[in-house]
Amino acid sequence: MADPKWDGLQRETLAVRLAVERSQYGENSEALYLTSGYVQPSAEVSARRFGGQEEGYTYGRSSNPTVTSFEQRLAALEGTQACMATASGMSAIMLMCFSLLKAGDHVIISQSMFGSTLKLIGSEFARFGVETSVVPQTDLAAWKAAIRPGITRLLFAETPTNPLGEVCDIAALAELAHDVGALLAVDNCFATPALQRPVEFGADIVMHSGTKYLDGQGRVLAGALCASEQLVLEKFLPVQKNSGMVLSPFNAWVVLKGLETLDLRMKAQSAQAHELALWLESHPAVARVHYPGLASHPQHALAMKQMNGCGGAVVSFDVKAPSPEQARANAFQVLDSMQLLSLCTNLGDTKTLCTHPASTSHGKLSEAQRQAAGINQGLIRVAVGLEHLDDIKADLERGLSLI
Ligand SMILES: *Cc1c(COP(=O)(O)O)cnc(C)c1O
Repeated sequence: MADPKWDGLQRETLAVRLAVERSQYGENSEALYLTSGYVQPSAEVSARRFGGQEEGYTYGRSSNPTVTSFEQRLAALEGTQACMATASGMSAIMLMCFSLLKAGDHVIISQSMFGSTLKLIGSEFARFGVETSVVPQTDLAAWKAAIRPGITRLLFAETPTNPLGEVCDIAALAELAHDVGALLAVDNCFATPALQRPVEFGADIVMHSGTKYLDGQGRVLAGALCASEQLVLEKFLPVQKNSGMVLSPFNAWVVLKGLETLDLRMKAQSAQAHELALWLESHPAVARVHYPGLASHPQHALAMKQMNGCGGAVVSFDVKAPSPEQARANAFQVLDSMQLLSLCTNLGDTKTLCTHPASTSHGKLSEAQRQAAGINQGLIRVAVGLEHLDDIKADLERGLSLI
């Protein structure tokens, strides 16, 4: 928990200020504490710290002041009591499942979740007797039908999803979960707390890949779970201490500094993405645009309610083509014609990154599975950065004009 002196300050202020006490040297930028161990002032204090009767740093697998600063700042932005940082987004999911589930428990996730999430929960945890139901992202009745009272412990949703930007109703899912004593976790990677705070709609846990917009400049891997103090201290901390999926202090320092500009970046990149989506929607070589900020998006109204009136920074679109083979060729032509934008399977960068989901993130699915998920061969995902919009459009136009 952060020092009470921060209570009552606005989120914008906390995003640039909240951190542990500065050291005796008075550094203005938060210090980077690269240390694995901590010198104890006395054997008595050491005993109390190890016994959990006194707060204080003991060893890098338990905590680190730079990591604490990041955790406190992200918790303030998400509006949760506490936060636990992890080495990556996937290790945050690993920590959550490992802390909350046991053999015989049941989890419900959406079929549109991040590929590694589907594999980790649906396949790896199945080996330990955790059962998973995979349901369509936006079909509330399917989520409801999958619930097994007394056995279902966790509902886990990602909204909006990658790459089609499908949006689920956080408040409705929270109600479904709470009715049977289960928890709702939300992967808030695409919207970030700058646009969407899932706990305000009833979610219990907010999961992050800090690798994406929290860092925002494509430098490090990071992850986090934001939740109540009780969940963090009683469930996540004991497992984290003994498993070591900790965020390195250096990476924590990078994402801590990233949080200072999160709000400005997300609003600017979301505004650019919206402009780009409108341009693509009217482009003769484009068959369809998937973007929650467009009125044509199937969950547009819900997205605007949950995401502070913004659509986020990721736009996907299908190029026009008479066949799947030609669609793939056309999409490759657009990507290979780029001279400025990066062909890069990441997102959340100040640089615009473009990918072909059907041959990368969704490459291992069968063509039928891909069709069912709406990932066509002509689909291109653009994670819009901060370059001038005219330059982004011109670089995409090189290939689009050839279709
Ligand atoms: C990248 C990503 C993850 C995984 O995060 P890593 O930091 O790469 O481990 C999880 N969920 C979503 C939505 C992502 O985009």
